[in-house]
Amino acid sequence: MLNRYEKFLEEFDRELQGYFSEQKKYIKCKKGCTDCCIEGEYPFSRLEAEYLMYGFLQLPKDIKDRIRKNIADLKIAKSNFQGERFLYKCPFLLDGQCALYERRGIVCRVFGLAYLRGDNTVKLPNCANLGLNYAEVFDKSGGAVYLNNPVKKDLRTDKILRSKTAEKYSLECGEIRPLIDWF
Ligand code: SF4
Repeated sequence: MLNRYEKFLEEFDRELQGYFSEQKKYIKCKKGCTDCCIEGEYPFSRLEAEYLMYGFLQLPKDIKDRIRKNIADLKIAKSNFQGERFLYKCPFLLDGQCALYERRGIVCRVFGLAYLRGDNTVKLPNCANLGLNYAEVFDKSGGAVYLNNPVKKDLRTDKILRSKTAEKYSLECGEIRPLIDWF
């Protein structure tokens, strides 16, 4: 299954490259920017979590130890959390870089793009609030989006992993949970 998923990712990444290129006038993504990994839920399917953890097992021991410590700290923070949505810095973000970039999730791969959801509303990346991607077509005070040409495909993880492309690779993605809940 993980081999098929890797083939699927090759095709999906090519598709995403096309979208990033079409949308480049709104995109401020650059190496070293980690805003999309600092505060989120990071929904991962079982398949993506397995793929990520297979890569984790191959990391050097000191890196694994740092990630394990991040996860343990987050589990404690989550168990003490009283609110509705537990938002956190991804435990795989080390020294300003993803320790498993090649194995990151679908949600990580589509970060930065604005796209149309099934209900025809535009999903903007959170970094529009920080003056980054799509900031020039987003009115923060009123929440309005002035964008004529978002990506015309719903890029949420569940939609992507149940798409025709995923079917072609016979993927079974399993349940989707916030990344921290896989540990
Ligand atoms: S898995 Fe990597 S790219 Fe995805 S949120 Fe975590 S650090 Fe960022």
